Amino acid sequence: MLITAPVLVKPREPMQMLDLELDDPGFGEVRVRMVASGVCHSCLHAADGSHVGIPMPIVLGDEGSGVVDAVGPGCRSLSPGDHVIISWAPDCGSCRPCCLGYPALCLNNPPVGRMGDGRTRFHYQGEDVYHYGPATYGPYIVVPEEAAVSIRKDFPLDLAALIGCSVTTGFGAVVNTAGVRSGQSVAVIGCGGVGLNAVQGAAATGAYPIIGVDVVDSKLEYARHFGATHTINSRAEDLIDAITALTGEGVDYSIVAVGSTTAMEQGLAILAKQGIEVILGLPGTGETFAVDPFLMMQGERKILGSRYGSGNPMVEFPKMIELAMAGRLNIDELVTRRYDLDEADEAFRALAAGEQARGLIVF
Ligand SMILES: [Zn+2]
Ligand SMILES: [Zn+2]
Repeated sequence: MLITAPVLVKPREPMQMLDLELDDPGFGEVRVRMVASGVCHSCLHAADGSHVGIPMPIVLGDEGSGVVDAVGPGCRSLSPGDHVIISWAPDCGSCRPCCLGYPALCLNNPPVGRMGDGRTRFHYQGEDVYHYGPATYGPYIVVPEEAAVSIRKDFPLDLAALIGCSVTTGFGAVVNTAGVRSGQSVAVIGCGGVGLNAVQGAAATGAYPIIGVDVVDSKLEYARHFGATHTINSRAEDLIDAITALTGEGVDYSIVAVGSTTAMEQGLAILAKQGIEVILGLPGTGETFAVDPFLMMQGERKILGSRYGSGNPMVEFPKMIELAMAGRLNIDELVTRRYDLDEADEAFRALAAGEQARGLIVF
């Protein structure tokens, strides 16, 4: 099949709309006609060069939804016409983390930029074009069936795209990774697409107070809209002072939903005794932050990482749909702006400038 997709040829250069060949779905694979793709910061890392080791040319996109268009031989779970959310973490189903129920931690992830067999499914003039995970900026994509999660057909399929990364990652970090309980205090540092879903997760658990922290006032407004009971602009106010004023001794949980190592240091500094920091934002390759062991030991504080909301996409995605349909999860207002496929560069610019909750490319 011939498709036209935005291709990142070099970091810090505009993407090029190229006519690519897309292979037919192979054994256990499906072809999906994409309906929408969210614009995620992890792809921005590839586009702005802050993550190294990403092969190019590459089709970006790790958050999307669509309709199964064709199935390859041996595909057991899906049929043409099924509505699906794309998972960026296809799992082998048989390694130890998979068997324990943590497929996002699968030991047999495909090599970066390629499918599990080591090859690509996109080609341009005979050369391989790589996949950024599922490569959801392609109008049609081929993925293993484990990466396409079937959902009910009466939910708006374009909005479902966001469940493929930001909703599940943010909500799950609070509900699954942290396991916040009613009445515990939560600060969410970074109130972008992922952080707002962490705020929603905190609201769903009955946490209080829920403190949104950002350096952009418009994002703090979003945070209040999505369930934050208090907000702090950490550029205008001293964060530790402001948290102490609100909570007395610090928060039970800090959720760091931004790839800033300064925010990660702050996330530890604002914890109450036995508080837990959960890190889900991705900094640039090789960036680190300092940890004061005294602070950790004296207060029995912990730092946890969270990947894909610590859940199984096969279970989590349909659950998020049910919560959204019941009015307990707000997805439609996360979308600040819709873009055509050839406006992906502008969507990145707006994301980097902190102008939006989530941009959505609609095919
Ligand atoms: Zn993402
Ligand atoms: Zn596995």
